[in-house]
This record gives sequence, structure tokens and C-alpha cells, in this order.
Amino acid sequence: MPDPLEVLQRVWGYDAFRGEQADIIATVVGGGDALVLMPTGGGKSLCYQVPALVRPGTGVVVSPLIALMQDQVDALSALGVRAGFLNSTQDPAQRRAVEDAYLAGELDLLYLAPERLRVRETVELLDRGRVALFAIDEAHCVSQWGHDFRPDYLQLSMLHERWPDVPRIALTATATDATHAEIASRLQLEQARHFVASFDRPNIQYRIAPKDNPRAQLLALIREEHPGDAGIVYCLSRSSVEQTAEHLAAQGITALPYHAGLDRAVRARNQSRFLREDGVVMVATIAFGMGIDKPDVRFVAHLDLPKSVEGYYQETGRAGRDGLPSTAWLAYGLPDVVQQRRMIDTSEGDAAHKRRLTQHLDAMLALCETVTCRRVQLLSYFGQASEPCGNCDTCLSPPDSWDGTLAAQKLLSTVVRLEQRGQRYGAGHLVDILRGKVTPRIIQLGHADVSTFGIGADLSDADWRGVVRQLLAAELLGVDSDGYGTLRLTPESAAVLRGERTVPLRREPEKPEKRARTRSG
Ligand code: ADP
Ligand code: ZN
Repeated sequence: MPDPLEVLQRVWGYDAFRGEQADIIATVVGGGDALVLMPTGGGKSLCYQVPALVRPGTGVVVSPLIALMQDQVDALSALGVRAGFLNSTQDPAQRRAVEDAYLAGELDLLYLAPERLRVRETVELLDRGRVALFAIDEAHCVSQWGHDFRPDYLQLSMLHERWPDVPRIALTATATDATHAEIASRLQLEQARHFVASFDRPNIQYRIAPKDNPRAQLLALIREEHPGDAGIVYCLSRSSVEQTAEHLAAQGITALPYHAGLDRAVRARNQSRFLREDGVVMVATIAFGMGIDKPDVRFVAHLDLPKSVEGYYQETGRAGRDGLPSTAWLAYGLPDVVQQRRMIDTSEGDAAHKRRLTQHLDAMLALCETVTCRRVQLLSYFGQASEPCGNCDTCLSPPDSWDGTLAAQKLLSTVVRLEQRGQRYGAGHLVDILRGKVTPRIIQLGHADVSTFGIGADLSDADWRGVVRQLLAAELLGVDSDGYGTLRLTPESAAVLRGERTVPLRREPEKPEKRARTRSG
């Protein structure tokens, strides 16, 4: 068998393996199984591509990324690697040509969509040729606990049963302990060697800003810090993808939309422009990005709150694969919490499913509200200890925290007072009562008589919204699923009202322009 390092140098033109690549490759080349947890951009592909070239036979790669298979095969062909794929986008003649090449021993790598392995013909085809190894890419798709579950991944344990002598390598960029354990058990990889790389991406600066005017904030980020740079902007809904892309384009920025509702041809064209042209900003839902290998993405911006830390980390990990300084920026506000809590409440699925979604969201909210280093918080979520990084917003300008117990009590007792009247309201009206505003609505509802009217005049509107948001994040306050953002108490609220629990809060930063004024004056 050829030497892996020689293959790396001859085919890819790289000098040396990175990190644990050499160990991983030696394991698979030697016929052993491996489970690889490595962050996006860490270099997972070579971990199975090199062994596929070294071992006799064809490396079979199971991947959910059908839309990218053609690109991957093209990129390998350009290096002189013989690669093909089988998926639902091909006509019978194309499929036949790939099958024939495989049977003739003329393929180094064969990419398969997972559902192909449910088809008996595919299994028999693989039997008639020679399989060098199985690579299971995006292995977290097997995890029901995770955020990207694909039912077809569950049956991949059959690979081991059917071909016990063929080494398997499973790879993912998602690395919580729960996902890790689930991948190992579902794919029967308990006996495999586990390789867990550091998940730190030191060149990415993590920042989470209060959402104020998100489009203006995004525009400022692009103009002031990333003019002419390639970037990805994630939005929750298809309509906000389109509106944001139009808004940026109207401001002279090369911005393209991408979401699953767009025509396949449009999506393919936009993706290919993003990959091939310089300085394109892709505005997308999370449908975009998995498997996209563009080294010089300089920023990833989120205009809406991601549903989980895993998702957030994977999406932001698409910035700065080349190792150069890059920005991960997220705008986050009270409406995000209200909306996501409500989406969970009204989602389909059983109680266990909702509890899982809530745990994911809570971890994401804890990251948003932390007063300590974002990176420490992120890495500890993935089970890795680290020191404050000096390259995130909380390290660069540490937020103040303050004792919000009294403010929380004022707010919660307002909710109680109104509930006693059989009434419930959203954050805006509650804050008006606390600040003692005599609005037409307050007069009409007679809310100047509520005993907490005006007792919160010492805090600003923004401060109060911060209090509400953080109480929601900590589940000391709940939101109804009525669609109006109506607030209610939770089981935990009582402890705060009784003074049995203190409520440390993060101070709302002043607006940047305000800060500038104070400094100069
Ligand atoms: P992942 O799949 O883990 O996100 P990739 O396999 O796409 O990462 O690798 C990320 C980038 O790093 C690619 O451009 C790849 O060519 C490059 N790369 C990987 N390993 C090496 C290496 N040993 N030397 C130089 N470049 C590498
Ligand atoms: Zn930090």
C-alpha cells in the first residue's frame, strides 16, 4: 500500500497532516474503525479520502448532502482522483456508468445518499465490487437528540453487520457529549477509536449584540468591518431572507438569497456565485451551508436567534476556515425569546420532544446572556475547558452585571396584580405600567390604579426590556402560546417573589452612538 503522507503530497500538494489527521488515517488504513469529532474547517475530508486512495478498493462515502455531490466529485476529479456518486438526481444511464466504473475497480471514492442503502440493488452492487472503507459524513444526522436528524441514518448500523471486515469512519462537527454517545451507540462504534479535536476556532471573534434595528446593524457591520468581504447572513424565515437580500442589494452590496423555497436552478446559481466570486454575501436560511467549503468567508451574521448552540456553532464555524480573523455576529432581542418559546409550545411532537427543544433553546439563551467569555461558555458546552479568550465581545468589553432581584419582583408582582384582575399583557404594556406612563391604553384600562404603577421609573424602557428578556431566558417568566407575547408566571417565579432567589442580570449596553457622545463630552 502507498504511504499516506506521500499520497497527501502527491495528490493534494500539502506538506503535512494537520492535528490528528495522521493518527486517524493510520487507524483506518490499518483496518480499524474511527469516530472523528472535529470542528468545521478542521480537515475531516482528508481523513477518509486519503485512506480511500491508500487501501485497495473504493471508499464509499455516505453523505446527506446530495446538492454538493457533483461539486465534491468535480473537485476530486480536478486532483486526478477517480470519484463518482449515486443519488436520486441521476437518470438510469448516469447511474449505470457509475456502477460500471465501481465494478471495474475504477473508482477511488463513491458518494452515496443514505437512502440508497435501503435499496437492495445498492447493497448487492457494493458486494460485487470491493469496498475499501465506509465513511459516514455528517454523522450527527443519526442523533435524534441533535438538531439535524435524518431517519435514513438510523439504518447505517447495517454497514457493520453486513460488512464486518470493512473499516468505518464516522465524522461530524457536532460534539456535545450527548450527541457523541448517541452516534457511537447507534452506529455501533463503541469499539472504534474516538478522536475528539479541540473545538476552539481562535480566529473567529464571537459577538452577540442587542437587537435594535437589525438591518441597520447588519449594514454597519458590513460597511465598517467587512466591506467587499464574503459573508453569510442567516435569517429564520424565507421572507426575511428575501427582504434582507433585497435591502442589502439596494445598498450596493452583492447579496444573494438562498432558501429551500427557491427554484432549484436559482439556488444552484446563487451557491455557485458565492463559491466562485469574491465578496458575495449570501443571505440564507439554515438550508444553506452544510458542506460548503469556502475558505475566505469573513463573517457569519445571525439576524435571528438560532435554536441550539450546536446549530449556532456549526453555522458560525463556516467563517474563517483559512485561519484568518473573522467575525461571528448575532443580533438578539426580546422578540426572539418570545417567538422561540411560542414555537416550541405550538410545535408538533410529544412532551419529551418539547423538553429537548427547550433545553437546546435554554443553552442558546444562556450563551446570549452570559457575562463571562463567550468562547469559554461555548467550549464548555462541548465539554472542553478553556481560559477567557480575549477575542469575544464580553472579553473585549466586559458587561456589567447588577442585582435585578428587586426589579424582577416589581415586574412579576405586576403580572400577579393583573392576573388577579383576570388580565394578561405583553412586555410593552407591563413596562408602561412600571414606568408610570399615562398612555391612552393605561387610562382606558384603569391601570394607573395598579399598585405597581410607576414604581419602576428608575429604569429605562431598554433596561426593562432587558429585565423581561432575561427573566424569559431564565424561565422565571413565561410566555403564552396565544401569539400575542402575553406574559405569565412560571413555577420558578414564586421563589423570586418570596425573596428566596436573587436575580443577577446583565446590564443592557448603551447604544454605541450614546457611548461615543459620553466619551467625547
Ligand atoms: P471539514 O470537512 O472538517 O469542515 P475540510 O475537510 O473541508 O474541513 O478542510 C478544510 C480546509 O482545510 C480545506 O480547504 C482543506 O483542503 C484544508 N486542509 C485539510 N487538511 C489539510 C492539510 N493537512 N494541509 C493543508 N490544508 C488542509
Ligand atoms: Zn472571550
